[in-house]
Amino acid sequence: PAQPRDRLRVAVQKSGRLGDPARELLASCGLTWRESRDRLFLYGESLPIDILLVRDDDIPGLIADGVCDLGVVGRNVLVEHHLERGAAGRPASLREWRQLGWGACRLDVAIPEGDEWTGPAQLAGLRIATSYPQTLGRWLRENGVEAHPVVLNGSVEIAPRLGQADVVCDLVSTGGTLRANGLVPVTTILESEAVIAGPDHHLEDGRQEIADLLLRRLDGAVQLRESRLLMLRAGRGSLDGVLPLLPAGHEPTVLQVDGLEEVSVQILVHGPVSWSRLEDLKRAGAHNLMVLPVEGMLA
Ligand code: ATP
Ligand code: MG
Repeated sequence: PAQPRDRLRVAVQKSGRLGDPARELLASCGLTWRESRDRLFLYGESLPIDILLVRDDDIPGLIADGVCDLGVVGRNVLVEHHLERGAAGRPASLREWRQLGWGACRLDVAIPEGDEWTGPAQLAGLRIATSYPQTLGRWLRENGVEAHPVVLNGSVEIAPRLGQADVVCDLVSTGGTLRANGLVPVTTILESEAVIAGPDHHLEDGRQEIADLLLRRLDGAVQLRESRLLMLRAGRGSLDGVLPLLPAGHEPTVLQVDGLEEVSVQILVHGPVSWSRLEDLKRAGAHNLMVLPVEGMLA
């Protein structure tokens, strides 16, 4: 059992794709840090929350072993760890505490450009280069296909050109890297995004309380990113035409403008408000339309 701890420890990718956004997200929750000399540890100053900077592949293991309490990691890494444990006959110990809505990518099977794709069955007997042998293995089993995974920890996309593999199973966001290597994605075996990973049980020694506080702020911060305040003015008479055109969101607030036959309408909206939406509202009688970013929120 881990030593008692009264500070929360969060594992974050040291560099790479998720490192900076993860630290920005935690900073937007009001966390500030003092950096250790070796820059591997960020000591939390504003809250008892410390950050350990590591390779993303190590994050699930650090949480499973109780060295860290939470981690920011791609679902792809978490799923692979989970299946690896299962294959070794050990029970699941982690779960996704939150989805963060960024770091989106897919684990795709990609084949040489020009080859026809007829379905999973055509992979039978082929060598498939991947860094995700467990996730690939599960998908192959589900599809009743026997193939030969070739496990590589980097540069998966050049394996076919080097003659190491026939096809690949790799992470894709735009597909540009694959295309540059003469490969085309043909099927998706996992949809991924950045998540907060944690144990599948409550934390101890008062750390759950700190985690709850962090998660509440995280939820606020994640919502905040997407939130806009839409404000407009309209004559009383056009209100019935304007209200149905408002984007879905919270209940609008309608205020009487002092001394005028006019109202001011405010509504909190999740996601962008398009120009055409604003034009529709204007045609229905609204004016002085404004879309504002939201800086802070506490329901
Ligand atoms: P580390 O040195 O920490 O092991 P890494 O090279 O394994 O880094 P990155 O390439 O930084 O990892 O990717 C981290 C995560 O970013 C991936 O596990 C995945 O969840 C996500 N991601 C988003 N888009 C992509 C993409 N196009 N290619 C690879 N990963 C992506
Ligand atoms: Mg890695």
